Amino acid sequence: MTGALAETLPAAGALDVDAIRRQFPILHTTMHDRPLVYLDSAASTQKPRAVLDALLQVYERDYANIHRGVYDLSQRASALHDAARRKVQRFIGARDWREIVFVRNATEAINLVAYSFLRPKLGPGDEILVTEMEHHANIVPWQLVAGETGAKVVAAPITDAGELDLVALRERIGPRTRLLGVTWVSNVLGTVNPVEEITALARRAGVPVLVDAAQAIQHRPVDVSALGADFLVFSGHKMYGPSGVGVLWGRAELLEAMPPWQGGGDMIEEVSFAGTTFNDIPFRFEAGTPDIAGVIALGAAVDWIEGLGMALIDAHETALMAYAERAIRQVPALRLISEPKERSGALSFVMDGCHPQDIGTLLDLDGIAIRTGHHCAMPLHARLGLPASARASIGVYNTTDDIDALVASLRRVADMFG
Ligand code: PLP
Repeated sequence: MTGALAETLPAAGALDVDAIRRQFPILHTTMHDRPLVYLDSAASTQKPRAVLDALLQVYERDYANIHRGVYDLSQRASALHDAARRKVQRFIGARDWREIVFVRNATEAINLVAYSFLRPKLGPGDEILVTEMEHHANIVPWQLVAGETGAKVVAAPITDAGELDLVALRERIGPRTRLLGVTWVSNVLGTVNPVEEITALARRAGVPVLVDAAQAIQHRPVDVSALGADFLVFSGHKMYGPSGVGVLWGRAELLEAMPPWQGGGDMIEEVSFAGTTFNDIPFRFEAGTPDIAGVIALGAAVDWIEGLGMALIDAHETALMAYAERAIRQVPALRLISEPKERSGALSFVMDGCHPQDIGTLLDLDGIAIRTGHHCAMPLHARLGLPASARASIGVYNTTDDIDALVASLRRVADMFG
């Protein structure tokens, strides 16, 4: 790291970030003839060689449909798929591999819970509690089932610093609250919510909790047995794995009591025209051929993350985020849109006189990829009184050089519009 402020960066443990970067071919490409500076990992992370190799290897050597064939190749693919489930189980500290349901992404996992777990319990006047900082994925599925049942979605407010107002949240939990859906880390504000405290609050009121870990799983250790939640969801593509595969974790006793939400092959026990009986969990929720290679490659992503060590990833990223926050504050006319006590992964801002879209376009010309817009959090932007914002977000492969490039480019934008 050679950044101007690098000497102020706390020691980043034993992570060799240059060696990590060498494992990501795409980080050595260019955009507009400039070296790519990738600062959009909250949208999706890039993939290390180990994950790319795992994908290729499945298709070249181990591929067949799973859980169906008696022949060796199918059994091998099945064993690799099963092994990936156990890797995910271990990674998040689940008691039982049957609590890991493979889906397409975090969004699908929330829809599954909305339709299979919650909808049968909802009636007119019931409430689903979320927060103002949720991604649309943790709002719209609840609105859909609320619309069908006469229930309503209510939102707990955030403070001006961009933190959850815990007092207000506690007050919003009432006798009609049927579920609390809360994000662990905000994809816009970067705020880390005290999820253990929140789940404890809800549990005292007998309210089940779904934790959206889409922005947590790649940044911090996750242990569902300590969390106190009932469901937890995340996407493979935000944790160095492939797109098209995500995870729903649910308490076994809850999943066991839930009806299927999609029908087809694999989710059945016996089918006849007189009626169908359903498979055990998790297969009951995995109708049809899954993303076999994707699941196996997600297992490779878990191995890769564990190989680095989540504690070291967390230490590196926390230090880099602090560095970024200090550096970016020095850009004229730029304002951070949140000031959380604990921040992870993302940092969003606006600039006087310059639309976020223009910031993104100008940075792109410098080879810098950031996200601009509402980041699938329109209610949050409405609360902040902003039509849009610009967001820089990091992964384990980012360095102070990336932040310095971002800040230099932002300064040029500020000069242009200042
Ligand atoms: N929840 C949060 C906090 C997110 O940031 C995202 C994606 O950005 C999602 C849910 C949805 O993830 P996906 O699009 O992979 O389903």
